[in-house]
Parts: sequence; C-alpha cells; structure tokens
Amino acid sequence: MAYLQLQGIEKYFGAHRAIKGIDLSIEKGEFIVFVGPSGCGKSTLLRLIAGLEHIDDGRLVLDGKDITHAPSSKRDLAMVFQSYALYPHMSVYENMSFALKLAKVDPKVIDEKVHNAARILDLTPYLHRTPKELSGGQRQRVAIGRAIVRSPKVFLFDEPLSNLDAALRGQTRVEIAKLHRDLGATTIYVTHDQVEAMTLADRVVVLRDGVIEQVGTPLELYDKPANQFVAQFIGTPQMNVVALSQAPESVLAQAPEGARGGAVGLRPEHVRVRGAGSTPVVARVDLVEALGAETLIYASTPLGAQFVARQNERTALQAGQAVSLDIDVAHAHWFDTAGRVVPPATH
Ligand code: ATP
Repeated sequence: MAYLQLQGIEKYFGAHRAIKGIDLSIEKGEFIVFVGPSGCGKSTLLRLIAGLEHIDDGRLVLDGKDITHAPSSKRDLAMVFQSYALYPHMSVYENMSFALKLAKVDPKVIDEKVHNAARILDLTPYLHRTPKELSGGQRQRVAIGRAIVRSPKVFLFDEPLSNLDAALRGQTRVEIAKLHRDLGATTIYVTHDQVEAMTLADRVVVLRDGVIEQVGTPLELYDKPANQFVAQFIGTPQMNVVALSQAPESVLAQAPEGARGGAVGLRPEHVRVRGAGSTPVVARVDLVEALGAETLIYASTPLGAQFVARQNERTALQAGQAVSLDIDVAHAHWFDTAGRVVPPATH
C-alpha cells in the first residue's frame, strides 16, 4: 500500500468547490511537486494534508493510519512555509529546538538533533543569532532545520523559495534536492514555478481548477503531456500551439483525423530557422532573444501562426527578415477541439 494516500479528497470554501475529488498515491521517499497556475488549489491541497484545513470528504491515509480528521499536531508531518514563520525573539537554536522542547524530548537528544540539522544546513555558525540577523536564504534554512529536527514522516513545503532572489532561489533549490537525497524523506512541495517542479520532483502533479490534470515524472510530462494545458504549462519557452487552420501545409498533411478543428503543438527545439527558400514554410522574424547559451527566434507565417525556435548557435538574424522554418513533424503533439491529446496518424 502507498505510504500516503489521498482518496476522493474534497474541499469547499462556502459554495466554492476548491478541491474536487483528488486521488493520489505517494510512495515512501518520493519527492512530489504540486504545480499549477494561481488559484488551482495546490496550497489548499497541501494544507488539507497538513491538517490546517478541514477535509470535507474523502480519506487521507498515512503509513496505514487514517489521519483524515487527526489534528495537525498528531499527523507526524512538518510544514515549511514561504513566510518562514520563525519566532523573531528566539535564536536559531531556540527556533529549531522549540517543537521538541514542547514535546518534552530529552535536552541531550534535542541538542544532538539541532546540531545535526545545523551541520546539514550549514547553520552551525549562526545558532546563536536571531532571525533578523540572518539573510533570507539563511532564514529559510532555519525553517527547514526546524522541520528536520522533528524527523517527520512527510515534509511539506509551501512555495519555500518565492521570497528569495533568483540566484538564491537556484542555490537553495539545489540544497533542497541534496537534502532530499541525503535524508530520503517523503516530501510534498508546492510551487507555481514549473522549473522548480521539473528539477526537484520524482513525480509532478499538475493541478488546474481543483483537479489533477496529469501525474508523471518531469520528462513524461514534457514528452507525453496528456493535454494542451499540461503541454503548455511544462517547458520554457512554452510549446508552440497552432490551430490547424493556421498550420503550414506540410504539418497539416500529417494531422491525424481526430485533431480536425484542433491544434498542433511543437516544442521550440523541434522548429529550426533556415534561410529564406530552404523549406516551403515561409516566415518572417518577429524577435530574436540572445540568451547566451541559447537563442530564441520568434517568427510568424503568412497565415498568422507564430513559432518560437530554440537553438544553441547564435544568429545574425534580425526582426523583419524573411526566413523559412524546418518543422520536425515527427515530434508534433496533436490536440482535439477540447485540447485532449490525439495519437499521431499511422501512415
Ligand atoms: P496560489 O499559487 O495563488 O497560491 P493556489 O493554487 O495555491 O494558488 P489555493 O490558495 O489553494 O490556490 O486556492 C484555491 C482556490 O480556493 C482559490 O480559488 C482560492 O480563492 C480559494 N480559497 C483558498 N483559500 C480560501 C479561503 N480560506 N476562503 C475562501 N476561498 C479560499
């Protein structure tokens, strides 16, 4: 049986059904990321697991025990918030030891656990400082340390990096990945950032409007999205999705019957920009983004379809120049009118 099981979980806020019958099985040691646009219900789902919100229907089972209505303190879970939620007047040491002290754990054991967590998180030199004497990244590590000392069955993270600047976010992301590797702890992590989701997760859960759109490994979601929503949510820049009515003739010719009236999706790495006249797909450059290691070229066809192409080589192309597009139709994703994936035609 799975370590943590969500069975038909429902949550209403008044008449608003925020979580709509979620089923999910999480294995011991897995790093699961909930991702989705603002308002999709990812924080609510995490708070339901944490016991910070009441579950209106369904069951939550952890390690064989029904915890659907257990109080938060009895769930054996530890949550790390975006806001850190540290006690400002307490030192790092006191912040990290507080929950264990309340639980009347032997002071010797507490000391050992706090020093161990501090060592793992590089916080040993700061144990006697108060939170205001720390940087944002260090504060977030204290919040993580406070969770570690409790040795919970599951770690819950609610957008823990969103208060940090881009460089620190990248660095802390690597630290969290390493921490998970070292501790092997079951983790559920909420973010709206699909790059965080892709880099941290064993499995990603994509949510929209309170339902799960797809669950899979990062590359499963990237290579085999179940629908147009997931296809466009995962990957930067976004997958090109073009209505078949605007698709170039060579693409249209490969479209399966079921995609009639729908759309075609192509990852930016599956579109190459060539010199004018090299392929039948005529286009004009709209914009070139030179990012250093890669270059993004936005180009539109006469039918009004815009494609972004990603390449490693730099380019001298400029906006307004005529080009042609080399489209790798073998890698196309086909969508029906409802945005569901349609298998490719077999020729
Ligand atoms: P974000 O990325 O913006 O934090 P989210 O995916 O975490 O979004 P939730 O915070 O889980 O979304 O909210 C899901 C839905 O439930 C939203 O429509 C939100 O307005 C609503 N909601 C959340 N908390 C409450 C509440 N306490 N009372 C009423 N409605 C709420």
